[in-house]
Amino acid sequence: HHLPAGPLGARLDRVSFWYDPGEPVLRDVSFRLSPGERLGIVGRTGSGKSTVVRLLFGLHHPVSGGVSVGGQDVAGLDTRALRSRVALVTQEVQVFHATLRDNLTFFDHSVDDHRVRDALDEAGLTDWWRELPDGLDTVLGTGARGMSAGEEQLLALARVFLRDPAVVLLDEPTARLDPHTERLLMPAMERLLEGRTAVVVQHRPHALRNVDRILVLDAGTVVEHGEQTVL
Ligand code: ATP
Ligand code: MG
Repeated sequence: HHLPAGPLGARLDRVSFWYDPGEPVLRDVSFRLSPGERLGIVGRTGSGKSTVVRLLFGLHHPVSGGVSVGGQDVAGLDTRALRSRVALVTQEVQVFHATLRDNLTFFDHSVDDHRVRDALDEAGLTDWWRELPDGLDTVLGTGARGMSAGEEQLLALARVFLRDPAVVLLDEPTARLDPHTERLLMPAMERLLEGRTAVVVQHRPHALRNVDRILVLDAGTVVEHGEQTVL
């Protein structure tokens, strides 16, 4: 199975899921995203928001129902093919003890430096990386060049800009940031969503102004699905 080039839609079709048999986490969840459309997901803690995102990223497969991206069942897609078109950003950013370049390219040395620099610029990290002592060769991570939580989160966005996926899944990417730092991330976040299909999970609904529709989950069930005005 192959994903077509260009923009991709995504769909959950009557999905039910559990981690532990007999303890349903999602019940009969359905939605359909056209290419370029953005869905916000809200709901209290434990309602299943992250689980929906993980299903779209192919980390789990539904107990019943189907999950598809670009018209293809995610369960039938090669993980690497899926990951090259779908990106997931969470509040946990792994910074490797490696150069800034390798942190973006995941050690793929065929990637041109100018693409790495462009991705950093798109993420809004221009001022930060230009001041690093060794530029793209600066070693990051434990015991090396320290980064603030906001800078780490922007690094995660730069990784996504570099891969230029058709679908982005944002699972509370700003949850561990203070409101001021969160605001600093908004322009990069908006650039990231531009022209891409997106699912954006947020606890705080104010951060959802970039979405077309909102799905409200409660205990694994869709309780609202509609325009922004449902909130
Ligand atoms: P939060 O707002 O706190 O991030 P959420 O809406 O993202 O919550 P999920 O993480 O999707 O909720 O979790 C839904 C339910 O599944 C919860 O009851 C949670 O305890 C359970 N759960 C999540 N991950 C696992 C796991 N790996 N194994 C077993 N149960 C899990
Ligand atoms: Mg979650």
